[in-house]
Amino acid sequence: MKMESSNVQAHSNYMREFTPARLRAFRRALGAWYDACARDLPWRRTLDPYRVWISEIMLQQTRVAAVIPYYERFLARFPDAATLAAADDDALLSAWAGLGYYSRARNVRAAAQTVTRLGAFPQSYEGILALPGIGPYTAAAIASICFGIPKAVLDGNVMRVICRLTADDADILSSRTRERMQESAQMLLDSASPARHNQAVMELGATVCIPRDPKCKICPVSKYCLARKSGLERELPIKLRRAEIRRVGRTLLVAIRNGNILLWQRAQDATMLGGFWELPEPHQLPEAKSAKLLHKFSHAITNHIYDFHVVSARAGQVQSLLQWTPLEQLPALPLSTVTRKALAGMHVLP
Ligand code: SF4
Repeated sequence: MKMESSNVQAHSNYMREFTPARLRAFRRALGAWYDACARDLPWRRTLDPYRVWISEIMLQQTRVAAVIPYYERFLARFPDAATLAAADDDALLSAWAGLGYYSRARNVRAAAQTVTRLGAFPQSYEGILALPGIGPYTAAAIASICFGIPKAVLDGNVMRVICRLTADDADILSSRTRERMQESAQMLLDSASPARHNQAVMELGATVCIPRDPKCKICPVSKYCLARKSGLERELPIKLRRAEIRRVGRTLLVAIRNGNILLWQRAQDATMLGGFWELPEPHQLPEAKSAKLLHKFSHAITNHIYDFHVVSARAGQVQSLLQWTPLEQLPALPLSTVTRKALAGMHVLP
């Protein structure tokens, strides 16, 4: 409690130092750096809220370089909200396969259906926030980038930048810290150019004020940075609650007969990966005879690391849940990332 109070004090003292002239200079330095150094990314070449929105959803917990080909393919397939609103599950999930977090894909379609019903994308922060699956960060990003609304974004990158600027050593996972960061982000925002400013802070966090080894020497706002002055830039931000990582061993069976492969489909309304197709595990095929180990791979999901053994098998009697599926249909089916990794190298996928 004492720690939290001293953080609040130090943080607010820091923010009070921002006279109007200092604020203008800070914003100018950040904006000029962004104009000169911003990466050329496909979603930065458009102000179309549909495209910006799809990029923001895909970028949540997926790296920029990995998102680019998905973003381009997804938009080639679903160029506008109306096309996406009409997509069936298989088309939607196969376009999203590999990005993970499949509830997002369904939320995106649900939001596209709302946008189509409304006749246009909402143009206020509150209207955007009311769409399914859109939280405060995404709503602020779309509102500022596409409609010039002065609403500060706060994602992990922005949190890190503000924590370091203010040398705030409170736990960034606490909601009070988050509220404090949101207020400071809003105060620092250049309301004359919210699109540029928001993207500049995110870009700074993604390319300069990076987690382990911030590049303070080339940082455009280093002279405003308390962490840098105190030599704390590598110590901050502080995350107190660390989830314990657990390793779990699993086996996947590859049974192929007469050009068909044995798969099962998750229920459409399953909370995880609903509608996706998977390879069976030994408990689903108790009579199978394992032939040989094909390969091994690991796959991390939140705080678990699964170590998979992929084994070829001769299926005995098959439960009704499992289906012999023609190999040539695989490219059109929504396959989970784990299934794709398991079948990689077997020349059954494109
Ligand atoms: S000076 Fe360093 S720690 Fe401070 S904002 Fe810049 S990159 Fe981050």
